[in-house]
Amino acid sequence: MNKVLVVILLVAASTSSFAQNSTSKEVDAVYPAVHELYLDIHQNPELSSHETRTAEILAARLRALGYDVTERVGGTGIVAVLKNGSGPTVMLRTELDALPVEEKTGLPYASKIHTKDDGGHDVPVMHACGHDLHMAAILGTATIMVQNQNTWHGTLMFIGQPAEETITGARAMLADGLLSRFPKPDYGIALHVGNELPAGTIGITSGVYSTAADSLRITIYGKGGHGSAPHTAIDPIVIAARTIVALQTITSREVKPGEMAVVTVGYIRAGTKNNIIPNDAEMGITVRTYNPQVRRQVLAAIDRIVKGEAMAGGATREPTIEHFESTGSVYNDPALVERLRPVIEAALGKQNVYIVEPITASEDYSAFVEAGIPSLYLNLGGADPERLAEAQKTNVPLPSNHSSYFAPDVEPSLRGAITCEVAVLRNLLNGKQRGLAQQ
Ligand SMILES: [Zn+2]
Ligand SMILES: [Zn+2]
Repeated sequence: MNKVLVVILLVAASTSSFAQNSTSKEVDAVYPAVHELYLDIHQNPELSSHETRTAEILAARLRALGYDVTERVGGTGIVAVLKNGSGPTVMLRTELDALPVEEKTGLPYASKIHTKDDGGHDVPVMHACGHDLHMAAILGTATIMVQNQNTWHGTLMFIGQPAEETITGARAMLADGLLSRFPKPDYGIALHVGNELPAGTIGITSGVYSTAADSLRITIYGKGGHGSAPHTAIDPIVIAARTIVALQTITSREVKPGEMAVVTVGYIRAGTKNNIIPNDAEMGITVRTYNPQVRRQVLAAIDRIVKGEAMAGGATREPTIEHFESTGSVYNDPALVERLRPVIEAALGKQNVYIVEPITASEDYSAFVEAGIPSLYLNLGGADPERLAEAQKTNVPLPSNHSSYFAPDVEPSLRGAITCEVAVLRNLLNGKQRGLAQQ
């Protein structure tokens, strides 16, 4: 180790402990308001595309802080901008929506809300994915950033995205002029709470972070008839059954071993009665992949197999394959990871930052990456450390996101999220630090 390096390390160490202390005092100051907002939003969850009250409350809080807030962007979305001199534009995104899940956590602030879903059915509603925590964290971060404008310069842009759970909100905001009506972000940041890491810690993945998701609806056309006279009919159920078995060979025989690919037939519907051969059979498929080339390969293989099996079974016409929902995979910019990992380590302590594997779930944040915003999507630990240690010992995992029992350890999660967000924003919005990091 040479002398210059020692000096640099000492400076880095003193800067980091200063940063940690000053941020924790800043977080202490904003925490009561942040926690209050968390409890309010948690007890008043709203379904995707219906986040009216949630958006109004968040918009009002950000406006009161001095942000220039625009509402109803891409449905119920909000955009809050704060310009503070010259410099880059950095976007920080939270989702707004909750899920049709009944909360069974037994917490004193558990949601008791019921509503009608888009199909008119009565459903319970719960923030079972932790988006309430992301919103509350943003209030804390936005407050610290507005009160300490001497620590950064550039343009800050907080967005509240609706309808993440239906993977439609990000594209709706883009279609409504997110990148033309507002400053175009040079960088994008998002984080998501989960139960895999201890509360308040951060997991970082470089490169691909989440899977691409493709939803397919397939209809196979046969010829109905009497169950006792199969020779007069073309049975779409048998064709569907063969198709399902043949689809299993895509991941086992066609995709290169080691490449991530999932093909799941999630439902099959056909027929009404045991002695009737139905006219058609329908199935729903979800496809998950990391690599765009593998994604194309899998979708092409599904097309080929579905059509080929229908032809082999003598189907009356070519099956229909509807690609009704899709999203790309979220890609974490490796240069941004390299730049921000030490920043997050300095803010939270090195032992509280993990390098983690990509997730098999999907996220429509990918639409922002595809629109040209270099991004970093972080994993926020939400698990009570003792319960997590117990879960690891017993091999019984803690409730995952979307479970009725999902209950992040709120205070350390919020504090970790705010500390991390503030450190990342200050780094990205500080020309000097960026110069240093690039050397
Ligand atoms: Zn979710
Ligand atoms: Zn989520």
